[in-house]
Order: sequence, then C-alpha cells, then structure tokens
Amino acid sequence: MNRTGRFAPSPTGDLHFGSLIAAVASFLQARSSGSRWLVRIEDVDRPREVPGSAASILAELQRFGMQSDLPVLYQSQRSEAYESAVTSLLNRNQAYWCGCSRSELPASGIYPGTCSDGLPAGKSPRSVRLRVHREPIDFADQAQGFIQESLAETVGDFIIRRADGLTAYQLAVVVDDAFQGVTEIVRGADLLGSTARQIHLQHCLGLLTPAYAHHPVVRGSDGKKLSKRIGSDPITGHPPEWALEKALRFLGQPCPAGMGLQQLWDWALKNWQLSRIPRATFTL
Ligand SMILES: [Zn+2]
Repeated sequence: MNRTGRFAPSPTGDLHFGSLIAAVASFLQARSSGSRWLVRIEDVDRPREVPGSAASILAELQRFGMQSDLPVLYQSQRSEAYESAVTSLLNRNQAYWCGCSRSELPASGIYPGTCSDGLPAGKSPRSVRLRVHREPIDFADQAQGFIQESLAETVGDFIIRRADGLTAYQLAVVVDDAFQGVTEIVRGADLLGSTARQIHLQHCLGLLTPAYAHHPVVRGSDGKKLSKRIGSDPITGHPPEWALEKALRFLGQPCPAGMGLQQLWDWALKNWQLSRIPRATFTL
C-alpha cells in the first residue's frame, strides 16, 4: 500500500502563517519518507466558504513549490459518499436521528442521549448522531505523546449530519481520508480534540486508522489562535523563502538562516525530523 499524507485546508480565507505550518509539516513528513502528498479542499461547510479562497490557497501552495501528487479533491463533490456512510451507520443502528434543537442542549455541550432510543413524541428528525461509548479511545500522537479520551465524557453522541442537511466535518474527513488512502495525518493541535471522534468513526465504518501527529498552533502575541484572525497575517505578500524559514523554525527544524527557496527545501527534506516538533505553544 502507498503511504500517503495530506493537507486539507478549509477555503475560509487566504493561506495564513498558521495553515502554512500545517502544509509544510505534512508535506515534509510525506516527501521525506517517500510517501505521496495530497491536497483536499474542505469546502463541505458551504455557508462558511469565502469565494475565491480555494483558488488562492492552491496558488499560494504552488508559489512555495508544494504540489499535490494527485488532482485536488473537493469535499463539495463528495456528498454521495458521505450520504452512503451516514445511511450505513443508520442502518446498523450505530447512528440515529435526533430532533433536538441547539437551544435544548445542556450548557456542557455533552449530548444527554435524549433521542437515542427513538424520537420522543412531538419531535421531528433534524440531525443524525453517532453513538459513542464510555471506554476511552487512545492513540499515540507522534508529536504530542499518548492521548486518551472517553467520548461519552467529552462530547456524547455527536452529529454526523447537520440539521441543515450538510455533512458534519468529522464524518467528511474520515470518509475522505479513507477514500484518498491517507496513512499519516500531520495537522495543527487545534484538531487534537477531533481525533478521538474520527478514530471512533473509523472503527464504526470499518476503516483503518492513520498515524497522527499534531503540531503546536501558532498564536499571536495576544494568545489568540492566528487563524481566528483571518486576514490579519496572510502570507501572500511575503517572499516564500522568508515564510518557509519561519515555518521550519516554528516546527523545531534548525535550518540555517538566509537560504533561497530551493536550498531550504533541499535542507528540509534531508533533515526533517517529526520528533523535533515542539510540544509547547509558540508566540510570534
Ligand atoms: Zn435529540
């Protein structure tokens, strides 16, 4: 089987430094070990999409010299695959229809299982939830170490098909990672909290679980995650060698200063080590 890594940005704005880190880390982890590297545009949440940003992200990757080994996959074209996964989970009673609206959920955010034995009288089906269990899900993150999470205690039965009919992020990611043969996921630690849900979905759908590595998330000096301030620091205006050098340093890779783009890639491909990725949060 081909080993495969991927970068999966959401088209909600220009490529900023935070997502460049994820692109560079996944690209180097794949290419330095002879794996394929694929790009997937996560445009499943159409209402959040910023027109033109998918094209602008792809153009930026090109400018840095990062090219997907296969044609780019768009989640907006994958709804049949998502629907068939949801249907099979419903048919096997691993998922169920929920009629609760957001305002009926407890403040904890943990779904109390109101509809898990069938829709209560007077409720009509809105979203589809996946059943979870109490036994913890654990995985060895290649950058952050051993992680354990009991989904019953953190989220409860979670939504895989939203009330607006759109596929939930967790389900789309899992179906597409399997479809693209992804064996190794390198991404920001802001998604660490999604990983147990995705592993549970893989188990329910009979899919393989890839290896995971989560790198620290870039924060501005105000402590806010940079991608929450979209547009505040797009890398569009910066020379790629400047941004790549910064990205490598952030990822704990001690590249020499002042190299050109090609030299930097040559150095990085030869010297890349996942184990150097820091656990601590970095302040710009
Ligand atoms: Zn419900």
